[in-house]
Amino acid sequence: MSHPIFLPGATIGILGGGQLGRMLSLAAAQLGYRTAVLEPGQGGPASQVCDFHIDAAYDDPAGLDRFCEIADVATVEFENIPAASLEHVAARIPLNPGVLPITTSQNRAREKAWLRKNGFPTPEYALADSPESLAAAAEKVGFPCVAKTADFGYDGKGQQKIDSAAADFTTIWAGLEAPRAVVEAWVPFEAELSVVCARSASGETAIYEPGRNVHTHHILDTTTVPSGLPPHILDEAREIATGILDALEYIGVLAVELFMTPDGTLLVNELAPRTHNSGHHTIDACATSQFEQQVRAICGLPLGSPSLHRPATMKNLLGDVWLEAPNQTPDWPAILFNGGSGTSTHLHLYGKSDPRLRRKMGHVTTLTTL
Ligand code: AMP
Repeated sequence: MSHPIFLPGATIGILGGGQLGRMLSLAAAQLGYRTAVLEPGQGGPASQVCDFHIDAAYDDPAGLDRFCEIADVATVEFENIPAASLEHVAARIPLNPGVLPITTSQNRAREKAWLRKNGFPTPEYALADSPESLAAAAEKVGFPCVAKTADFGYDGKGQQKIDSAAADFTTIWAGLEAPRAVVEAWVPFEAELSVVCARSASGETAIYEPGRNVHTHHILDTTTVPSGLPPHILDEAREIATGILDALEYIGVLAVELFMTPDGTLLVNELAPRTHNSGHHTIDACATSQFEQQVRAICGLPLGSPSLHRPATMKNLLGDVWLEAPNQTPDWPAILFNGGSGTSTHLHLYGKSDPRLRRKMGHVTTLTTL
């Protein structure tokens, strides 16, 4: 099947208007594209820097029509766009990645079933739709385990750890506030890593150096590349990522989050059908940023080199940094201090005016020398 090519000058439509949309818009502008962002509400991170902002709900047909009139090709920066809206857009203009990869990753049960069916390793899991089936699912996968809402979960939202069969399943079920859940075996991982990767319409792939991730309170704190993990583990992680890209016939940037167990087994935790927080270092540390790569992939252009030119650590700046600072103003000179001996720091702020606890406000990437 031949895919259309969208050259600089075309307009890229982005469903979602957070920081990923902002950094995608900035990369698109550098390459001579315009961007149209559909996102409810004014003043969001992406709407501040895009060419056209459609202030409409994700399921507003008139807003989606306007979006499709302005944009030549569409993508998502946020996977939890209603399936009907994705279909609405895909019926009018090319949507990359397509409806199937996005809707598969919207639901943990669907995503895990797809991974298993296609031969990719995941933690043991079982499904639940009531306090009783939650108890049965936990018994089946073993303790400790973690219950996660099947739909619309991210950054540890809608997750509850279950330590033993004596747990109060009625309270845990009520706390999930969702009709369906996935119960996963708790993985005593030695490391968490992610592979940010891309595939073009022609089947070309580009795999970034896998990063090692550290989460705090289920939210990504740092990503470090090179990860320091054994080369055969990194090769296997790349192989899994490439296999997933090909099996999905994927077009765009994809992030594959993995656990590494103490015996060196890799298990896929989750997929993100878009650019990812663990790929932010690529802006400053790689030949092609994940955002430029997304533009290239969805527009049918050749992919850029993913090569890492400097070792890097990306650290998220959460609202906590503001709230804990005198006068709620972070010490920017200290954050921007380069540290000498070839180290350099790069600040990225997302234009959010309201720092809240655990809200992603920006990130800092520190580059060191090879
Ligand atoms: P998630 O939203 O599923 O990516 O979960 C956020 C973070 O919670 C992960 O990156 C892990 O640090 C932790 N976590 C989630 N699931 C598990 C699990 N099955 N075993 C151990 N830790 C987990």
